[in-house]
Amino acid sequence: MSDIDLTVGDITAFRADAIVNAANSSLLGGGGVDGAIHRAGGPAILRDCRLLRETSLPSGLEPGAAVAATAGDLAARWVIHTVGPVYSSSEDRSPTLRDCYTRSLRLANALGAGSIAFPLISGGAYGWPLDDAVAQQIRAVKESDSAVESITLVAFSDAIADITRRLLR
Ligand code: ADP
Repeated sequence: MSDIDLTVGDITAFRADAIVNAANSSLLGGGGVDGAIHRAGGPAILRDCRLLRETSLPSGLEPGAAVAATAGDLAARWVIHTVGPVYSSSEDRSPTLRDCYTRSLRLANALGAGSIAFPLISGGAYGWPLDDAVAQQIRAVKESDSAVESITLVAFSDAIADITRRLLR
């Protein structure tokens, strides 16, 4: 069983073998946590993403999928890019949201990562209601039964941290 911890703050300052990015399908950068990771990790991150687009992912990364790439200057060995689904009130996209966590963990496992840090995927620009975004995150991480020893959920606000604390109990 993995340890699941909560921390509040900026994921780019967190020390873990793998840091997960809530990317968009283009893999070429964006706002929110994606922008922060590219800024803090330096140009190597975009270079590596461009290379992925030119080789294995010509049409980008679909929602729910995950890919590992360099962490550039970050205090991590890998950035795992995953693409959350945009929230929809008419369609249940939560299996795809959970896939982001499950597949990132599977990838981290395959790489031999001992620790991984997640932001709240789809919990920003992609509009997911925060309570449910956190509920899906916790469910996916608990169900994944991964061999990665340490999983840290990085809440970017006190509001997210409060929800996470409540749902982790
Ligand atoms: P998405 O497009 O998947 O919704 P966002 O980056 O817009 O992705 O938001 C995802 C979550 O990441 C939000 O909760 C947002 O507050 C949070 N976030 C933004 N910047 C950072 C950061 N530097 N570290 C950790 N979390 C962050």
